[in-house]
Amino acid sequence: MVRVSEEAPERGALEYVTYAPAGQDCAACLRPLEPLEVARRIVLDRTSGSPLTTYRHANGCPRSVAG
Ligand SMILES: [Zn+2]
Repeated sequence: MVRVSEEAPERGALEYVTYAPAGQDCAACLRPLEPLEVARRIVLDRTSGSPLTTYRHANGCPRSVAG
């Protein structure tokens, strides 16, 4: 039996939790990730071209504040 992770990543995507490098924006909320903030690194293996790497807040995106 193969264990399936609680949150299955998108098909063909490799995802794991790591620290965000400086200057990265969260792909979900588009807010900048703090240096060394825990983030989910998602690598989409595209059929053409190089894999697309994105980062998202690992502990949930901060609530957006209007304005
Ligand atoms: Zn976010």
